[in-house]
Amino acid sequence: MSCFVFVHVYTGNLTTSNKMKIEEVKSTTKTQRIASHSHIKGLGLDETGYAIQTAAGLVGQELAREAAGVVVELIKCKKMSGRAVLLAGPPGTGKTAVALAIAQELGTKVPFCPMVGSEVYSSEIKKTEVLMENFRRAIGLRIKETKEVYEGEVTEMTPVETENPMGGYGKTVSHVVIGLKTAKGTKQLKLDPSIYESLQKEKVEVGDVIYIEANSGAVKRQGRSDSYATEFDLEAEEYVPLPKGDVHKKKEVIQDVTLHDLDVANARPQGGQDIMSMMGQLMKPKKTEITDKLRKEINKVVNKYIDQGVAELVPGVLFIDEVHMLDIECFTYLHRALESTIAPICIFATNRGKCTIKGTEDIVAPHGIPLDLLDRVMIVRTLPYSQEEMIQILKIRAQTESIQINEASLTSLGQIGVQTTLRYAVQLLTPSNLLARINGKDAIGTEEIEEINKLFYDAKASAKILASQEDKYMK
Ligand code: ATP
Repeated sequence: MSCFVFVHVYTGNLTTSNKMKIEEVKSTTKTQRIASHSHIKGLGLDETGYAIQTAAGLVGQELAREAAGVVVELIKCKKMSGRAVLLAGPPGTGKTAVALAIAQELGTKVPFCPMVGSEVYSSEIKKTEVLMENFRRAIGLRIKETKEVYEGEVTEMTPVETENPMGGYGKTVSHVVIGLKTAKGTKQLKLDPSIYESLQKEKVEVGDVIYIEANSGAVKRQGRSDSYATEFDLEAEEYVPLPKGDVHKKKEVIQDVTLHDLDVANARPQGGQDIMSMMGQLMKPKKTEITDKLRKEINKVVNKYIDQGVAELVPGVLFIDEVHMLDIECFTYLHRALESTIAPICIFATNRGKCTIKGTEDIVAPHGIPLDLLDRVMIVRTLPYSQEEMIQILKIRAQTESIQINEASLTSLGQIGVQTTLRYAVQLLTPSNLLARINGKDAIGTEEIEEINKLFYDAKASAKILASQEDKYMK
């Protein structure tokens, strides 16, 4: 997991004990998991709630999409609390895709947290702890603040160097000159060198429109999708004060974070202050622990923000794939958590029919889910795709990944999809494209599909070979 450290927001009227670091944490593992669904933009329903065959990136699966539309309506009129959704259907029938589409229908900044049931089993972390973490990843907080900012178009960014004050070799940057152009003219700001680092991290170039927060000195580039603010040394404000002038104005700044982001940003490195533990910290990468106490503190501050009208909660979607992998203890926890006032929308998925509930001796239940929880679940079925639908999906995926592929190859990939799974067929796109490049072609042809398909096995084919050659493998 990689962390990008963002703005420190200190809400003016909160006491020191209520200060909270507000940072967004970007987890690569979770974004990778939804990268293959980047073409999905919503449920693709018309205004009466019927599914349009191909819309918003989704193809077919009309009944499930329409049912999902009803769920979205229920969520919007706050009638889903304490309930969950179960998507039941064979692998590769778009369960993740539909769950993501539900999150998108709820709003662009609504968190979507996907996980797999088996993720809860770890030798280091308690099962319920894993569930709790994912719950908090799926609850967003939108913080609105009016801030004093310096805003304008960058006309210059010049770091000014002086001789090293310690008398050593080399030079150090003493300050940075930034030109900001506003409607009233261009103003030159002489700022702390750390702002220069922030500008670089933000990839600010001359000509970009930026704003610098007067309070924290955080820099934010506007008008680019990947923009984020960077950390700034607060003390620097005293060092080179930001001038009060006509580039100074009030601005409403909105920041979207999840409760998990807040937990991570506020977790302190563990260990006491004795020499041994300090040595330990020097040698090992800093480890942080999110405790129950910390979460309670965060909740307190969050509630205060909400009461003051500074922030609002944005319940997102927690998607648990292969939910039958959870055990009875997890289900009990989930059941309770669903009733909490700040629960996300829980969407479960499974491809199992009746099976034993994990953690019990022999309690068999539909989808391996205890009956009392199942009682609270709205079940939506997903069905296998036709070859034509698979071809349409493959075409959309190829377009999204900027892969050129001719019609004959799409048909052949569609056939492979029907014999194996949609996922397997989609996964053949990238290697086939690489091979086409090696063969000096701009577009994938049937030769590439055939050659790549010979190199790999889909899960079904692999299982068949394993079964037929069982005696040749170690047991
Ligand atoms: P499941 O969760 O049921 O296993 P999935 O949503 O994870 O299915 P994959 O098997 O990973 O689907 O599907 C492969 C690709 O096809 C993904 O990129 C997915 O977004 C896409 N896809 C699946 N169903 C649809 C659909 N109905 N419309 C458009 N794209 C889809």
